[in-house]
Amino acid sequence: MKVARFHAPGDIRVEDAPEPVAGPGELLIRVRNCSTCGTDAKILKFGHHHIRPPRVMGHEIAGEVVTGTGAFEPGDRVQVIAAIPCGECGECKRGRMTVCPNQESMGYHYDGGFAEYMVVPAKVLAVDGVNRIPAGVGFAEASVAEPLACVLNGQELARVGPGDDVVVIGSGPIGCLHVRLARARGARRVILADLNPDRLEMAAVLVNPDAALHGDDVTEAVLKLTEGRGADVVITAAASGVAQEQALGMVARQGRISFFGGLPKDNPIIRLDSNLVHYRELTIVGANGSSPAHNKQALELIASGAVPVADLITHRLPLTDVLEGIDIVMRGEAIKVTVEP
Ligand SMILES: [Zn+2]
Ligand SMILES: [Zn+2]
Repeated sequence: MKVARFHAPGDIRVEDAPEPVAGPGELLIRVRNCSTCGTDAKILKFGHHHIRPPRVMGHEIAGEVVTGTGAFEPGDRVQVIAAIPCGECGECKRGRMTVCPNQESMGYHYDGGFAEYMVVPAKVLAVDGVNRIPAGVGFAEASVAEPLACVLNGQELARVGPGDDVVVIGSGPIGCLHVRLARARGARRVILADLNPDRLEMAAVLVNPDAALHGDDVTEAVLKLTEGRGADVVITAAASGVAQEQALGMVARQGRISFFGGLPKDNPIIRLDSNLVHYRELTIVGANGSSPAHNKQALELIASGAVPVADLITHRLPLTDVLEGIDIVMRGEAIKVTVEP
């Protein structure tokens, strides 16, 4: 079968590999869609300390069961989690699976979905990490449940809710999902901002924010749009320390800031006015992937139509074009690129 394997930074190869075989307690699936995201671009450029090469990449996975186990039978349509909590540590036992210190990931510790066939490890099944795809939801849409699950985790932590004015900085696929989810959770107004006016335009046409802002005066514009209050929630969906610093200046009193996008490993330090946090009673939260339960909820949000994702999938490519797909992601020319092995 064909796979896309990471060998070293800058060296991802589409090559032949033997079809994997499911061991006891494992599932074998025929991958139908594995979508790409900014993380894949990061891995291509810099590698990742958790990846031991050669490794089949791809972590936004949907497919069809070939060899079943437990309740799963051949032909079942399934979506697979990306982040695998251990299920046994103190955090997992407290239900905080996104911060499990023993977390492993598909496409990092285990071969991922940029392949015609993939084994679902027993560890994934042990934490209920394989979800049946609801009727009416396609494989490509189902593959977007994983990033939507991460977005859901972020908005739960930032307590996005009815009546909130929400600013999303970054108009990539994650930013678009944030806009849609914030609306589904009852936000009053959702403002989308990006430095790249072309990408912002493409995203704004799809997700229709109340305002689309670009340029240097985003803070001023947000304050103006919110009658000087600032936004109840600011979400930075970009790997940008500048955006994180900006967020402090446009958030309302008792507002919440989600540092949703991580910063580059070699440049993670920002400057922020701690007195703003203190006197304005601000809350700053992080976000680290998603739990198996978030993936289930994300599939339901897609199936019910609360968060449509089909129109966000702008590019569909065969596995042989996976590098082109990652390149499109890096150039910011797509919303969601999905690979169909
Ligand atoms: Zn991803
Ligand atoms: Zn754990």
